[in-house]
Amino acid sequence: MTELEVSENTVASVHYTGTLPENGEIFDSSEGREPLTFLVGHKQMIPGFEEEILGAKVGEKREFTLSAERAYGDRDEAGVLQIPREQFAQLESEAKLTEGLQLVAQMPHGPSPFTIVHLSDEYITADFNHTLAGKSLTFAVEIIDLRKASDEEVSHGHAHGRDGSEQH
Ligand code: ZN
Repeated sequence: MTELEVSENTVASVHYTGTLPENGEIFDSSEGREPLTFLVGHKQMIPGFEEEILGAKVGEKREFTLSAERAYGDRDEAGVLQIPREQFAQLESEAKLTEGLQLVAQMPHGPSPFTIVHLSDEYITADFNHTLAGKSLTFAVEIIDLRKASDEEVSHGHAHGRDGSEQH
């Protein structure tokens, strides 16, 4: 019997730590949590993350650095918008707006997260880019669990938990 490897239509459970190569700052980690479980080959993850662990077996560790194009993409300056501050009047009656605050706008195509990058009396400058857009990212990944996806998971395009028992 050949040992299973990370490949299309397998469900991988991994521990990972993501750092910024320029300063080593950890931006995300599964340490202290359940491993991250996902269906491989269905765009559940940023593209480079999957590509770099293809062929890995349980217990294998890999470390790699992704360019922005293979991670969250380049920044799009068209994603930085000035919004009249009066549109936030109701929110401001309940919470203090500060630069760096992350909020979610209800847009016609669905919820869109953004970060307040500047505040003036009249306008709020909102950045709809992913906070990691335009950045190279380093990941240290360990494969914890690996199994073949069920037909149901493949047709749904996502994993049903580490052992496949979750229902959706
Ligand atoms: Zn499902």
